[in-house]
Amino acid sequence: MAIRIDGKKISQELKDELKETVAKLKEEGKNGCLAVIQVGDDPASSVYVGNKKKACAYIGIDSRSYELPEETTEAELLELIESLNQDPAVNGILCQLPLPAHISEKKVIQSISPQKDVDGFHPQNVGALVIGQEGFVSCTPAGIIELLHRSGVSIEGKHCVVVGRSNIVGKPMALLMLRENATVTVCHSKTRNLKEICKEADILIVAIGKPQYITADYIKEGAVVIDVGVHRNENNKLCGDVKYDEAEPLASAITPVPGGVGPMTIAMLMKNCVEAMKRYA
Ligand code: NAP
Repeated sequence: MAIRIDGKKISQELKDELKETVAKLKEEGKNGCLAVIQVGDDPASSVYVGNKKKACAYIGIDSRSYELPEETTEAELLELIESLNQDPAVNGILCQLPLPAHISEKKVIQSISPQKDVDGFHPQNVGALVIGQEGFVSCTPAGIIELLHRSGVSIEGKHCVVVGRSNIVGKPMALLMLRENATVTVCHSKTRNLKEICKEADILIVAIGKPQYITADYIKEGAVVIDVGVHRNENNKLCGDVKYDEAEPLASAITPVPGGVGPMTIAMLMKNCVEAMKRYA
């Protein structure tokens, strides 16, 4: 039976550590402030934004909320971001995605100062990750590394298969595993023999966005299985990209959905905010 990697517990531990660090930084006169921008009122985005603000309050940093109407123009949004870039009281900026279709996500991501880009999406931060320099790393893949470390999973020399190559999850995940000295294979929708490749993985990280796609046939006995996917099944219950009931008896360790990777994403956002506070406050 697999060890269940408890993202809820690990993210709580991390947030408690960050809370202590923030208290110490405040004693040194350093304050944290995250600016959170939301354009439109997509209900899922509102939940994410609310959770991010709650996490800020928990660890003791300020959050400023900018709730802009759906019809906000790209120029207006870029102007707001520029004013936040210039504001010395703000050390983290995030703009909740997705944005309405008339606003270019690429332009918005590039307009956030790399020093305040706590989501780690700016090309300068992505480039820093590629060449092994310091910078902000995308929160979900960074959270997976934290989960593996804190669960005692050794990475060095292991064969890691990452399924998915999105800019937010798959690609930075592969680079982080490489940085941890894993041997990395990246799969995507054009990969041939996906099953065979996945079956060779010591650590299998799945971020394909297809509910319960990965069945027992894809998993080597003893593999560590990390499920990034989040979906609602036919009974309106949360599930991942992996068929948990089939994978669990084969795996040596596995993340559940919910309660695995998900809670780590916000905790790592808070870690990036604290890093911004240390570096730039
Ligand atoms: P995405 O941008 O849709 O990327 C999906 C990737 O999977 C693409 O690279 C795609 O290949 C690949 N893919 C799709 N079907 C495949 C197949 N049949 N075989 C192999 N590869 C396939 O998704 P994402 O943003 O990375 O997110 C992935 C999942 O993670 C989603 O369920 C999302 O909701 C979840 N997620 C969770 C968190 C969290 O905090 N828990 C954070 C982010 C995302 P191509 O490149 O060839 O199209």
